[in-house]
Amino acid sequence: MSDDTKLIDDSPIPDTPVIPNQMQGDAVIQFRCHKDIDCFNACCKNIDIMLTPYDIIRLKNRLGITSTEFLREYTEPFEFGRNSVGGVKYKPKEGTNECQFVTDEGCSVYEDRPTACRYYPVGLLSTRRQDENFDRASYALVTEDHCHGHFEDRKLTIDEYREEQGLEEYDEKGRAWRQLILKVKSAGPAIGNMSKTSLKFFFMACYDVDRLREFVKSEGFNTTYDVDPETMDKILSDDLALLEFGDRLIRQVMYAEESIPLRSDALEQHLSRRGDRESTVHDDMERPSMASYEMPVDGEDEKNK
Ligand code: SF4
Ligand code: SF4
Repeated sequence: MSDDTKLIDDSPIPDTPVIPNQMQGDAVIQFRCHKDIDCFNACCKNIDIMLTPYDIIRLKNRLGITSTEFLREYTEPFEFGRNSVGGVKYKPKEGTNECQFVTDEGCSVYEDRPTACRYYPVGLLSTRRQDENFDRASYALVTEDHCHGHFEDRKLTIDEYREEQGLEEYDEKGRAWRQLILKVKSAGPAIGNMSKTSLKFFFMACYDVDRLREFVKSEGFNTTYDVDPETMDKILSDDLALLEFGDRLIRQVMYAEESIPLRSDALEQHLSRRGDRESTVHDDMERPSMASYEMPVDGEDEKNK
């Protein structure tokens, strides 16, 4: 048995005949998609598309809405495993399996289409060996009857296809999240000990960058963490910097990988806030504001294993 463990499959349409061979970037495929092909839009009418945090930022900025609004309107959550962390998928048009962005003219958000749409009909397989701390990419080809692009007279390597589809940028900006998911998945049953608070916190920090921004501005955050003013300015004004900060925060809270300084009186403040909350009848986790995210103590889940 190979010591590679397949952990993420970005095939846009799971449960389809993915050719089982893992391919490398220099493998040659035969494929072309264009507006005059007789199957135009067929792939966008039967979707099952997972979104990365970077996909969400691109799309919510394209639409001029907040990440919270985008998540509510265009996505539905799923779990990466039982009682595990959550992911986000496109929510199709009501009563259909069609993407909400497909039009007769094609994709209405084409320049900002998500990673999985760019990859199709290639699936990205991120794998991590048991003894390694980084992921490796390989690919698989998805062949579906409705897609006639495989019969077009064009051959190119997967690396050339990735370049054509602008995937280097998408892969780079999605790498930290991908590695985090690999880490969560490879942690095995111990991850089942994650608290509800941590699962909600993970979801917010990965996918809801505008709520994360409000959280970072909150008193709860600022009495816990000691972030220098320059970093604070950067993360409050730049979605990508905030996303990267959110990744560090998740690793610190869930895995005790400390990279953000704590205030010296943080534990005292934390216990004091928690005490105040326990004396009220409200369930803070259900409040819609960012104040609902009670900060878990760093490494709390790690210690609970
Ligand atoms: S985002 Fe665009 S390319 Fe992707 S499924 Fe929707 S319409 Fe198709
Ligand atoms: S060739 Fe394939 S990817 Fe292109 S429109 Fe047709 S079904 Fe979609």
